[in-house]
Amino acid sequence: MKNASNVIQGEKEESSDAEWNIDQFEDRLFEILSDPNGRVSVAKFKSMLAFSGLRDTDPRLKECMTNFENVLQLNQPDHDSKNTDYYGGLSVDKKTFKECIQDNIILISKSLKNDFIIPEWQNFKQEIDKIYRNCRNNTNGNVASYIPQLARYSPDFWGVSVCSVDGQRYSSGDTNVPFSLQSCSKPLTYCMVQSNDDNIERVHKYVGHEPSGRSFNEISLDYQKKPHNPMINSGAIIVSSLLKPELALPDRFDWTTKMLSKMTGGEYLSFNNAVFLSERETADRNFALAYYMRENKCFPEGTKLHEVLDFYFQLCSIEVTCESASVIAATLANGGICPMTGEKVFNSAAVRNTLSLMHSCGMYDYSGEFAFRVGLPAKSGVSGTVLLVVPNIMGICLWSPPLDMWGNSCRGIQFCQELVNVYNFHNYDNLKHTEKKMDPTRLRIDTLSQDVVNILFGAFNGDVSALRRYYLLGLDMNIADYDGRTALHVAAAEGQEQAVRFLLEMCNVNVNTKDRWGFTPLEEAERFEHPEVAKLLISSMKKMEHPETD
Ligand code: GLN
Repeated sequence: MKNASNVIQGEKEESSDAEWNIDQFEDRLFEILSDPNGRVSVAKFKSMLAFSGLRDTDPRLKECMTNFENVLQLNQPDHDSKNTDYYGGLSVDKKTFKECIQDNIILISKSLKNDFIIPEWQNFKQEIDKIYRNCRNNTNGNVASYIPQLARYSPDFWGVSVCSVDGQRYSSGDTNVPFSLQSCSKPLTYCMVQSNDDNIERVHKYVGHEPSGRSFNEISLDYQKKPHNPMINSGAIIVSSLLKPELALPDRFDWTTKMLSKMTGGEYLSFNNAVFLSERETADRNFALAYYMRENKCFPEGTKLHEVLDFYFQLCSIEVTCESASVIAATLANGGICPMTGEKVFNSAAVRNTLSLMHSCGMYDYSGEFAFRVGLPAKSGVSGTVLLVVPNIMGICLWSPPLDMWGNSCRGIQFCQELVNVYNFHNYDNLKHTEKKMDPTRLRIDTLSQDVVNILFGAFNGDVSALRRYYLLGLDMNIADYDGRTALHVAAAEGQEQAVRFLLEMCNVNVNTKDRWGFTPLEEAERFEHPEVAKLLISSMKKMEHPETD
């Protein structure tokens, strides 16, 4: 087995610190997990990884899982090796444990130190599930019927898959059923065109960046006689003509699917020939668009129109599942690096451009409203898919075939809206202080303890302007530390008269609150000899007893 600590050592030649830390981490991990006989249950170890959101099929854990499997083979040669969940009470000693985990120790240590982008993955999963269930009751919309392959999908299909930028995974519902990418291929090909640096500027010689305000397949061009943007059919057809035109069509298709497969981290990707044939059969509008654009000299010179259209239909007919498409979205969320493999698929400038256009143009004619309500880059497709990107945090794929009047998945839209009602994911949500919304990238306990420290520190220093700020931000001014000490206790003990006045008169805090030793703020003021403060507190207590004297 390759030693991960060597890898680290290799990066940091002389220093043995990193090696020592990893070794120490492995020892500590063993201590935490081992039973009184000095053995670690493999099932228990795996469930700890799962708790943080990792799957044991994660390619980044492959060596570790294979090592455990090999140990199992040696111990119980009769077990069913296909059943990867079977560990039949297998436990290993310290030496074996360390040998088995060392190849993937960096990821394992991150997982067990709770060092992922979403530290409380279990709570996050529960919220996702809640929203998933709410949306399941939404029976609005109609399944696309322009080709039989789409019309045949049951309106009941509903799947949600999440993949964080650290490769934490969660799926609910029909997340392994294949469906075609359709318009969700548009941002992906746009991003691919730009994977060649020279093309970053070039592509916009042929296609604009403005929302069209028209339906996705309308025959119209902007004032420069270019398609409005790459997220509508005309723009996507142009982008298809810019994608590896030097290659013959079969090689072009191969190249594209290889890129897509890098985005899915090797997860499900296929091609639905029946969808392709139907798309081509019912493509009068797309042919009309292409001819109109050719008449207006929109294509680069030498473009073979029929070949480009075929390529465009093929791109629409590529199949994914909710699971694999969530990894695609996560690759976009992660600046072009696939979280499941660590492979760099795109440069970050291409991804940024793609996300910008998804944000302004990704949801057909609903794009403006979506940007207003949800504030996240997303792209929908007529198969009922929504690729939703929470930049730097996660990618989400939503799939449910019934569409609304704009062509967006009804359940998908509802999910996006409910998600940003719960979490501060909207682009313009305040990231520091959101009273109602949660920030899943922070441990809730950290947020709470930070609030306590801030308020008590403000009271200690008599910093009324700081206290005013916390009050205006909606923080609970009665909040107490682990000793039951509130801002009022601290301000009273320190003789901070203005702070005490502000807390009593503006924030209406509880004047009779007791700390863990039973002291009230008044007793604190008296104990530390602040008679003016004591007076204030007494009068506030009197007012509480006889409010009518006010
Ligand atoms: N194949 C469809 C078309 O080109 C894709 C459109 C869509 O998903 N809105 O018309």
